[in-house]
Amino acid sequence: MTTERTQSDSDDRRMDKIVALTRRRGFIFQSSELYGGINGAWDYGPVGVQLKRNVKDAWWRSLVEERDDIVGLDTAILMHPMVWKASGHVDGFSDPMVDCKLCKKRFRADDLDNAICGQKPSKRPGQCGGELTEPRNFNLMFETFLGPVSDTSSRTFLRPETAQGIFVNFANVVATTRVKIPFGIAQIGKSFRNEINPRNFTFRSREFEQMELEFFVKPGTDEEWFHRWVQWRRDWYIGLGIRPENLRLVPHEKLAHYSRATTDVEYRFPFGWGELEGIANRGDFDLRQHQRGIRTVARWDGGDLQALQLVEEEQDWHRGKLSYFDEETKQRYIPYVIEPAAGADRATLAFLCDAYDEDSAPDAKGQLETREVLRLHPRLAPVKAAVLPLVRKDGQPERAMRIYEALKRRYVVEYDESGSIGKRYRRQDEIGTPLCITIDYDTSKDGTVTVRDRDSMRQVRVSEDRLLELLDETIHREPR
Ligand code: ATP
Repeated sequence: MTTERTQSDSDDRRMDKIVALTRRRGFIFQSSELYGGINGAWDYGPVGVQLKRNVKDAWWRSLVEERDDIVGLDTAILMHPMVWKASGHVDGFSDPMVDCKLCKKRFRADDLDNAICGQKPSKRPGQCGGELTEPRNFNLMFETFLGPVSDTSSRTFLRPETAQGIFVNFANVVATTRVKIPFGIAQIGKSFRNEINPRNFTFRSREFEQMELEFFVKPGTDEEWFHRWVQWRRDWYIGLGIRPENLRLVPHEKLAHYSRATTDVEYRFPFGWGELEGIANRGDFDLRQHQRGIRTVARWDGGDLQALQLVEEEQDWHRGKLSYFDEETKQRYIPYVIEPAAGADRATLAFLCDAYDEDSAPDAKGQLETREVLRLHPRLAPVKAAVLPLVRKDGQPERAMRIYEALKRRYVVEYDESGSIGKRYRRQDEIGTPLCITIDYDTSKDGTVTVRDRDSMRQVRVSEDRLLELLDETIHREPR
């Protein structure tokens, strides 16, 4: 669920500046830009890929590596088509769509207030005099074919979420590891949705990455776990520097049929509040559906999946293939699942928006000019430090290179000797590098360097032997 909305001019300008900076500094490019671009797909450039990796690594570390009750998984994007029948996506993963008979553009029928007319950009669809068709359901899954024959039996889909790869491996994980309920399975990977109106930069894309956790619990304990996960997930964003006032928790009033409770974590983007992550208590819906799916597959003749009826559940469904035997209570049951489902691209965009700031800094002549800076949490910053010789002579580049080589063993650092020192600082500010280390004439005399802090622009002299320690402290510090 999302509540994106159109914002004021200054918010629009802020978003334009963020998009321009991410293009200029190589964070994000439009996919196939050289050919005019395609809608709803994005390429991450050299610093963008590093930032997004840091976001995914922070998520993975906090769930899979720092906790004892969560394991990881990496499942295939292509899955058996029956997975999508059983999960409900073949029949129900659709948005209502309308066409404008005048301009032939398509819009989400439930989001017309935020859509722009194809003829007159200042108007909403239908306000230009064009007649809109009755809403029709449009399935968001991308279809593809496995193998050389393109018929219904070889038809499958690019996954629209990573969660189903986890559910269909539930029994494999239980059988091959020492997990005991309560436990979770986490996965990060690409998902694809043929969104009717991709927009708001990377926020709504057709190809994107998800970070999903399925946390299996004993029925009856689900409510408690649900509330814990809502808080933990909100705290995760704050721990990485998002300002608390830019986050809100939005419980769903109208619940999807499979959900016992859902709360979204929303971020205040310059274009309005938008969902970063949904936390849902899905009960035993998914595992039960797959129990029905694995019984139905034997009857499937390769025909149209939409026409196929799933078989009814066995009478003792709670003892089926996807049930769990609880050693402690000696009971067999289908676990309930709490699902915190986040988007790596949306989280990355939120971190970029929250970090973007403007202040002023002196130019080469000492005049104050506007400085654009990304105040990213040092853990997320694509480059942790830049090593800069003041001049390209007198042994400074060699000394700087030695420092760079030493720091590079532990962290992503950059060496840069081109252009004035001011310009080099400004570039690092714009990609969010927390520290700039400058090697100058005093370095050869006393072994000290200048360390400049990105946020305060304060400079201190530090012995070069202390640099690693300083970087460690900076990266692991609490958010501002
Ligand atoms: P929305 O209502 O915004 O379409 P959703 O409720 O359908 O999102 P989920 O199915 O819960 O989203 O997916 C979990 C997460 O995956 C979302 O919170 C979001 O971060 C991410 N996500 C979903 N769709 C997209 C998309 N089209 N582009 C980028 N990220 C997405």
